[in-house]
Amino acid sequence: MNKYKVLIGLEMHCEISETNTKVFSGAENSYKDEPNSNIRPVDMAFPGTLPVVNKEAIKKALMASLILDCKQPEYIYFERKNYYYPDLPKGFQITQETKPAPMGIYGRLEYECNGEIKVARINNIHLEEDSAATDHFESYSTINYNRAGVPLLELVTEPDFRSADEAVAFLETMRSIYQYAGISEADSMKGQVRCDVNVSIMDSDKDETDTNNWGTKIEIKNVNSFGGVREAINYEIGRQIALKESGEYDSMEQQTRRWDEESATTIYMRGKVDAIDYKYFVEPNIPKYKLSNEWLEEIRKSIPTLPNERKEKYIKEYGLSEVDAKTIIKDKKISDFYERVIEAGGDVKSGANWITSIILGYLNKTEQEITDIYLTPEMLVEIMNMINEGKISSKQSKDVLNKVIEDKKEPKKVVKDLGMTKISDENILRPMIVEILESHLELIEEHRKGRNVFDFFVGQVMKQTRGQADPSLTAKILREEIEKR
Ligand code: ADP
Ligand code: MG
Repeated sequence: MNKYKVLIGLEMHCEISETNTKVFSGAENSYKDEPNSNIRPVDMAFPGTLPVVNKEAIKKALMASLILDCKQPEYIYFERKNYYYPDLPKGFQITQETKPAPMGIYGRLEYECNGEIKVARINNIHLEEDSAATDHFESYSTINYNRAGVPLLELVTEPDFRSADEAVAFLETMRSIYQYAGISEADSMKGQVRCDVNVSIMDSDKDETDTNNWGTKIEIKNVNSFGGVREAINYEIGRQIALKESGEYDSMEQQTRRWDEESATTIYMRGKVDAIDYKYFVEPNIPKYKLSNEWLEEIRKSIPTLPNERKEKYIKEYGLSEVDAKTIIKDKKISDFYERVIEAGGDVKSGANWITSIILGYLNKTEQEITDIYLTPEMLVEIMNMINEGKISSKQSKDVLNKVIEDKKEPKKVVKDLGMTKISDENILRPMIVEILESHLELIEEHRKGRNVFDFFVGQVMKQTRGQADPSLTAKILREEIEKR
């Protein structure tokens, strides 16, 4: 048994990408603009400008709160978190920090880690505005205010994770919930997801329900990828155990560190004495809003099918294996593709096979997303149908798929251009030939007497396959089968 138990709590920030505009201004909520072009006066805190709350952002935040089984507030209001930094033109961030302001408190989420179901308690989920994006270079920094005011959800968990694996499994589950619920793309590459990770260790023989036994909390700020979260936690566990063994850990004060990707270490930023007092107070320019049960119910009803429900359906209704179902739901875009394959008449099992054994392999190899490639669900169904109708062999179908993607051509065109409308699958041709021979036994008799019936049989095969049978393979099988009789 391990000497120490690890306690990990997460603060997951995720931009809400699925609103048209920012959370308190009419500027577009998008990434496509030139830096510093997508800004309204209120984003820059020009004098006399006032925030206007985006109802859609509140709706999405409440939806997340409902999905996480949180308690929703009676009144919605916001607070000012006061501090100065160049990425924050107003000198304060509009957020919801102190209870009972958040969009949700005291929820829970089940997630799976290495085949086991775990539960994480949610302390709260709140809605705030993102700051501008800063980038630091050797001798200068840049700042892009397009991000200022983008709606941001912050989810705070209780310290319920006991390993980096659990923390990352939770984050992955949360990311797919955001995607399936239409709340966010939750794309780390776009900087939409950022985490603060809190880590401490304690003696494993002590009672973890008594907070007095908890170790000193170390907060690691702004970890920008799940891979980074895993590495930062594992590094920090090692660092803390070393401190514990040398007797320095227990007298240590709480501190904030940052994850440095280059050195793969955490670096000291500030200690408890330097903790900032944000002097929270209620944002006076946004009126309190009474949350009605009717609206909440309406939001609850509009929650789209979530990943777990899709997984259940794939296993129970479609008969997929647990592994295949999980592989397909992992990425919403893949699961959406699969749903459309079925809508277009594709078989549930072979559709799943194509995706898990061929398409995902291709996407991984070429580092692309399913939406990046030319192949549509309808095209995949067309290829599947061509196999079923015996137009192409299953071996050929893989070449067709590759060609469709590489040459950006419709499956029918690929088959035609490759002259593939030819059946060269022995498993299709042999039974067909046997059947033809069996129904013309009298001709085989003639053949023995020396009459040439070979061309007649070739003709029959060609007739049945509309000329698509591979001629040399047909001849070979015919010879063998006639010989046997
Ligand atoms: P603060 O008041 O410093 O913001 P909170 O108690 O609100 O701290 O917790 C912030 C985050 O730190 C939460 O995710 C919480 O679960 C986590 N946390 C609190 N105490 C510990 C601890 N001893 N070890 C690890 N994580 C902790
Ligand atoms: Mg915050």
